[in-house]
Amino acid sequence: MAVNTPPRLGFEYAPAPEATDHFQLAGVYKLFLDGEFVAPASEQHLATINPATEETLAEVSVANEADVDRAVKAARKAFATWSKLPGSTRARYLFRISRIIQERARELAIVESMDGGKPIKESRDVDIPIAAAHFHYYAGWADKLEWAFPNRKASPIGVAGQIIPWNFPLLMLAWKIAPALACGNTVVLKPARTTPLTALLFAQICQQAELPPGVVNIVTGISSTGAAMVAHPDIDKIAFTGSTDVGKYIMRTTAGTRKRLTLELGGKSANIVFDDAPLDQAVEGIINGIFFNQGHVCCAGSRLLVQESIAAPFLDKLRARMARLRVGNPLDKNTDIGAINSADQLQTIKEYVESGITEGAEIFQPPCELPKRGFWFPPTVFSNVSQSHRIAREEIFGPVLSTLTFRTPEEAVAKANNTPYGLAAGIWTDKGSQILWMAQHLNAGVVWANTYNRFDPTSPFGGYKESGFGREGGWHGLHPYLELH
Ligand code: NAD
Ligand code: MN
Repeated sequence: MAVNTPPRLGFEYAPAPEATDHFQLAGVYKLFLDGEFVAPASEQHLATINPATEETLAEVSVANEADVDRAVKAARKAFATWSKLPGSTRARYLFRISRIIQERARELAIVESMDGGKPIKESRDVDIPIAAAHFHYYAGWADKLEWAFPNRKASPIGVAGQIIPWNFPLLMLAWKIAPALACGNTVVLKPARTTPLTALLFAQICQQAELPPGVVNIVTGISSTGAAMVAHPDIDKIAFTGSTDVGKYIMRTTAGTRKRLTLELGGKSANIVFDDAPLDQAVEGIINGIFFNQGHVCCAGSRLLVQESIAAPFLDKLRARMARLRVGNPLDKNTDIGAINSADQLQTIKEYVESGITEGAEIFQPPCELPKRGFWFPPTVFSNVSQSHRIAREEIFGPVLSTLTFRTPEEAVAKANNTPYGLAAGIWTDKGSQILWMAQHLNAGVVWANTYNRFDPTSPFGGYKESGFGREGGWHGLHPYLELH
C-alpha cells in the first residue's frame, strides 16, 4: 500500500514561549528529611538536565542507605503524632497544600516541562491541576474514614515508602502522598532520577503549609535509593509506579516480609475503532491516546485496533492529522509533542522502531524538523502490524503507534486481550450496547468510551495481569493505606 504524505499547512505559528525569569532554581538541592533540607550522608549528587536542551538545571542529592534510614526514622517518629490527629485537622493541611499548588501552578508547570520535556500545555492544563485536585479530593476523605467502611474501623498502617517514575512526576507524587496522608500515614517518597525537581518544590510547599516535620520526606537519588527503601525493615508499605521488571523485583524482594505492596506497572493498551464511530473525533482520540506526553504514558493507547472495512480511510485521516502535530520546544504554548525524557529512553524507542521495520511493518512519519540539541522523536505510526511483532507486544513508551485490524467485536476483544498487560482500553463506536459489551469483555483496569486519557481524582486507576495490582484514586485508593478491623 502506497503511503501518501499529506501536504503541509500553508501557515506557521509564531513562537509563544513561556517566560522562565519569574522563579529561581537552587543550584544544589539537599534531601528533605524531618521537615528540613539536609545534606546527604552519601555526599553524592547528580545533575538533572533539561532533555530539550541537554543543559543542567540543578544538582540533586543521591540518597544512600543511611539517608533512607534517616528518612524512615523521621517518618516513624512523625507517625506517632500525625496518626493521632483528628481527620479534620489532617484535612486542613491537605487543603492548604492543594491551595499552595494552585498558587504556585505556573512555576510548577514550567519546572515540570523543563525537567522532563513535556509540553507546557500539558503540565499547565493536566499534571499540575490534577495534582492539586488529588490533594483537595483526599482532604475530603480525611474526616470521613469513620463512616466510609460500615461496621469496620479504619486505622493507618504506618510508614509508606513510595517510588515513582519520570513521566508524571508531580502528579504521581500527588497520587501517592495525598491518600497516604489523608489516612494518617507518613511517607518517604523517591522521585525518578531524571525528574526530581517538582518533588523538591513540593518539599518547600510542605514547609510553607507548616506540615509537621517528618510527615513527608523526599529522598532523591537513583535505583539503589529505591532498593534501599524496598529493603528497609521499618517501612510498612511500598507503593511503586514504574516498569514491570522493577515491579517484579520488588514483589520478589518483599515476598515473605510483612510489607504491604501495590504496583502500578506498564501497559500495551488497545484503542479500538469500529466502523460506526465518528471518525474525525476518533482520530483526535487516537492522537491523544498515543502522542500525549510523547507516549510516555503507562496507559497510552499504543495499539490501534481498527475495523477492517474502514482501515484505509481511517489511516489516511490519521496520517493527515499527524502531519499537523507540532514537535519542539516544550515551553512553547503551541507545542504538541515535546522532548523524549532521556537519551536512554530515546535509544529504547529507536530500537523498537528498527525492530518494527525489520519485522516487516510499514512505517509512516510525517516530515518534521527536529531541534538539533536534545532528545527528539517524530510521531510514528506502523500499519500492517501482526500480533507477533515486538511493536505489538512490548511497551515502547514513546510516540509510536502500532495498527492492527479486526472484523468482528469478538476478534477485537481477543486481540485487545492478547497481551500480558491489562491497564487500559479505548472504544470508539456510536452504539451504547457495543460499548457495554466490549467493556465487559476487555481485561483492562480502565475502559474509556469515545474518549481517552481522562483522569480524575474520584475515579480509581490501576491494572490487571502484569500491569500490577492495587488502585489509586477514588474511595478505592484509600484501601492500600488503611488497616480495616
Ligand atoms: P523504572 O521502573 O525504571 O523506575 C521507576 C522508579 O523505580 C524510579 O524512581 C527508579 O529510580 C526506581 N527504581 C529503579 N530500580 C529500582 C529498584 N531495583 N528498587 C527500587 N526502586 C527502583 O521505570 P521508569 O522507566 O522510571 O518509568 C516508566 C515505567 O513506568 C513504564 O513501564 C510505565 O508503564 C510505568 N508507569 C506505570 C504507571 C501506572 O500507573 N501503571 C504510571 C506511570 C508509569
Ligand atoms: Mn531532568
